[in-house]
Amino acid sequence: MIEMQKVTKKYSNGIIAVNDLNINIKHGEFLYVVGPSGAGKSTFIKMMYREEKPTTGNIIVNGIDLSKLKNKQVPYLRRNIGVVFQDFKLLPTLTVFENVAFALEVIEQRPAEIKKLVMEVLSLVGLKHKVRMLPTELSGGEQQRVSIARSIVNKPKLVIADEPTGNLDPETSWEIMSLLEEINLQGTTIIMATHNREIVNTIKHRVVAIENGRIVRDEQRGEYGYEG
Ligand code: ADP
Ligand code: ADP
Repeated sequence: MIEMQKVTKKYSNGIIAVNDLNINIKHGEFLYVVGPSGAGKSTFIKMMYREEKPTTGNIIVNGIDLSKLKNKQVPYLRRNIGVVFQDFKLLPTLTVFENVAFALEVIEQRPAEIKKLVMEVLSLVGLKHKVRMLPTELSGGEQQRVSIARSIVNKPKLVIADEPTGNLDPETSWEIMSLLEEINLQGTTIIMATHNREIVNTIKHRVVAIENGRIVRDEQRGEYGYEG
């Protein structure tokens, strides 16, 4: 599903955020990315959906060699990848329905098809009754559920989540995790950067720890491994 070979990312300020990194992530895996702040986790995952380009090395995602991908082909890559952020990134002036539909409308689906697909995912995340509300009328957990609905509405093979529970209280975080678990059980690969030690140590999955831009640990059913 994702292969990185000798990937290095050096930002224009000279900082080497990812350093000669190799990884292979298989279809259907659930992978936690852990490590201290500034370790390179976000850079590592941003390169998977071409939010950042590597300075050197090869990245293959979903069979696509990203080094051969032209900028105008990036939307085609993104269509097969759902992305979930810590701060949700919902469009504030659009309703719940419209926020989710927005992702589909760019690929010119018919209105009836859009409605069906949007209502399907909103009912999966338990928000069918709030379709007309604006993001500001929802709790943080509900906003994150909308953003998860948006991330999966195109039925991507891969969902990337950068600290999806970072702004949520513990109980809501567990609800969001059950949702991600369910999506993973349906066959979607999930990559999740997190500082949530409770979650990593309880819902066991592969754990990749990054420090100074390098993978320092890679364990199946691993532990969080840091304090706090
Ligand atoms: P993490 O997600 O683990 O906190 P990041 O990937 O965000 O790590 O950052 C890794 C390093 O790269 C840090 O030193 C950070 O300051 C630096 N960095 C991140 N983004 C940029 C950028 N756009 N320009 C320059 N340096 C950056
Ligand atoms: P119901 O018949 O119970 O209203 P529907 O499946 O017809 O159920 O619609 C569910 C909700 O989605 C309704 O509140 C409807 O107004 C809303 N909705 C449907 N299509 C759109 C759209 N294109 N933009 C915004 N809201 C929509």
